[in-house]
Amino acid sequence: MDLAARLAQERRARLAAERLLELKQEELFAANRKLGHRARALTHEIVEKRAEVATVRDENTRVKSDLSQARERFEVAERRLWNSVQTITDGFAVYDSDSRMIIANDAYLSIFDGLKEVRQGITYAHILQLLTEEGIVDVGDQTREEWRADMQARWEAGSNAGKVIRLWNDQYVRLVDRHTSDGDVVSLGLNITEAVRYERELEKARDTAEVANRAKSAFLANMSHEIRTPMNGILGMAELLAESQTDEEQQLYIDTIRNSAEALLVIINDVLDYSKIEADKMELHSAPFDLERCIHEVILLLQPTARDKGLTLLVDYDLFLPTQFNGDPGRIRQILTNLLGNAVKFTLRGHVLIRVTGVTAEDGSSARIHLNVEDTGIGIPAEKADHIFGEFNQVESEKNRQFEGSGLGLAITRQLVKMMGGDIWVESEEGQGSCFGLHIDLGMVEGVDMAPPLSLNGLRKVLIVDDLEANRIILEKQLRQLRLEVTSCTNGAEALERVVDGFDLLITDHNMPEMDGPELAQAIRAAGHNVPMILLSSNPGFARNDPARDLFRMILQKPQPRNELFAALGHVQPDQARTVGPIPEDPASTRKLRILAADDNRTNRLVLDKMLKPLDIDLHFAEDGEQAIALFNKLAPDLIFMDISMPKIDGREATRRIREIEADRDAHTHIIALTAHALKGDEDEVRQAGLDAYLTKPLRKKAIFGAIEEFCGCLPLKEEPPQAASG
Ligand code: ADP
Repeated sequence: MDLAARLAQERRARLAAERLLELKQEELFAANRKLGHRARALTHEIVEKRAEVATVRDENTRVKSDLSQARERFEVAERRLWNSVQTITDGFAVYDSDSRMIIANDAYLSIFDGLKEVRQGITYAHILQLLTEEGIVDVGDQTREEWRADMQARWEAGSNAGKVIRLWNDQYVRLVDRHTSDGDVVSLGLNITEAVRYERELEKARDTAEVANRAKSAFLANMSHEIRTPMNGILGMAELLAESQTDEEQQLYIDTIRNSAEALLVIINDVLDYSKIEADKMELHSAPFDLERCIHEVILLLQPTARDKGLTLLVDYDLFLPTQFNGDPGRIRQILTNLLGNAVKFTLRGHVLIRVTGVTAEDGSSARIHLNVEDTGIGIPAEKADHIFGEFNQVESEKNRQFEGSGLGLAITRQLVKMMGGDIWVESEEGQGSCFGLHIDLGMVEGVDMAPPLSLNGLRKVLIVDDLEANRIILEKQLRQLRLEVTSCTNGAEALERVVDGFDLLITDHNMPEMDGPELAQAIRAAGHNVPMILLSSNPGFARNDPARDLFRMILQKPQPRNELFAALGHVQPDQARTVGPIPEDPASTRKLRILAADDNRTNRLVLDKMLKPLDIDLHFAEDGEQAIALFNKLAPDLIFMDISMPKIDGREATRRIREIEADRDAHTHIIALTAHALKGDEDEVRQAGLDAYLTKPLRKKAIFGAIEEFCGCLPLKEEPPQAASG
């Protein structure tokens, strides 16, 4: 190759190399530029990361400090909680779900008296073991095994009811175990030693109080007996004194003695009853009795007071309601006496009405009896309507202040009504009157029924004369129920006009303005009418020598019991209307009535002797039970009054023996107990001994006479008793 070619070749090679170099340089520049970009981006990234790291580091430091603060707080809280748990004097422990102790406070641990085993991790079963084996707990009647088994069973059953355990040192702990939601058991041991001690003291106090209460009841019963005996002397003698010749001033003194003694007796009885109710000692003694008669007996007792005040007493006894029931007649009489007595007491004018209705139970075994006692008295303010049923509660007002009373009557009444399964309430308007309502359940007596007269002897048309509307309404109702044709008049003049219409019977009230019953009777006869007449009087003993008395077929005590009214209607014979005069009585026995009275107390014998003076009878006295039996054998008396507590042989025993003697003779002498015991249980006992009836001392002449009349069928008065003013 020539030089030129070689040179040309070299130049081409050089040029090519130079171009390659240029190319590579360009590439290098490009790469360099890229690198520059990258480096800048990286630098930027690094700056950013650095900032981020700084933030995270700050955050970390903050979290760390927060954490340490939280830990601090947690520790404080835990320390506080634990300190609090430690300050409790009651035991506190927590067990895990495997029944292993997690923690327990000192109080809990203290009962184990430093036993090393009792610490975290000990099982409940082991705790029970230690309690029994170390004699920490008193297992009572159980064996240690039984006790542990019981406790373990309670623990497992998760029983929430507290279990009281007694420790060796007479401390009492109530164990209460509560299961938490995560399976732990919180066990509390509450120290109830003080409470138990207090409870024991209370029990002791209650026992002492009960002993005292029993002593009080016995004392009251005794006191009642002790007070009644001298009261018998006071009341009996005062009653007799009242009938003797005295001037007006002396009479006033005597009346005061009697009234005060009577008032005292009422209070004694109320207080006694109330104490009995309070001590839960009041019992009802059921027996068959006549409700209507019971009401009339109470009315009879209140009649004199009502008459003095010019009040009319009315009884509206549902004609088709039976009168025989099973109940406690004594207590029912007490209820009636309280309500009717109050009604009369708090009424100055107008009337007092008792209304009796009843509904028989479906099975016919009992009846719900409704009683309403309505008066036209001073009334009771609405806000006091409940208050008056509380003990010692009375309406405090000017109007009320003039009336005396203990404030116990209605409280006792309400309790009695409640005991009879009933309820009592009052509706009243001040100044207008009150109406006390009650209902009680009484047993029915089988086989007895109220008997309206079977034959009215053709009686059809009846004329009633009464100025009082309530009275007329009741009588009309009763007579209409007997299908009689009734015409009513409000006064005598009207009756005189109507009587010409021809009636089979005229029933007139006694006290009426302008013309009273007897005057009307005379006017009717004077006008030539022969209609038979019946007088209804609240004072049937009025002027015994009043010639008008003979004009009446019958004089009935008002309010008249239905059976008396029925009997009277049965006796009227319209076809013999001309017959005037009272219905002839049965011929009396020719021999004098023989009465034996046994009483060891001289004053009592004296009182009885004086009381029976007005009677034309053969009276004999025995001073004890032995004498009573002897005289019974000797005299064969018609009636015996028998004191109960007597020396040697008491009244019960004497009666028992008399009944034995009688059993051989197939006879029965009526024996009436006289007793100062006013407690109900005694009455039953007395009756069980074979006595027929029961009178409580202080004796009342009326009650004694009533008993003689009831059991002997008559009351042989020596002469007419002193006249009372007409009423
Ligand atoms: P006492 O009559 O002995 O005061 P009660 O318990 O029988 O006690 O009656 C309580 C009170 O209720 C009476 O004091 C009287 O204020 C009032 N009260 C009872 N019955 C009537 C009545 N029928 N009319 C007006 N107030 C009455």
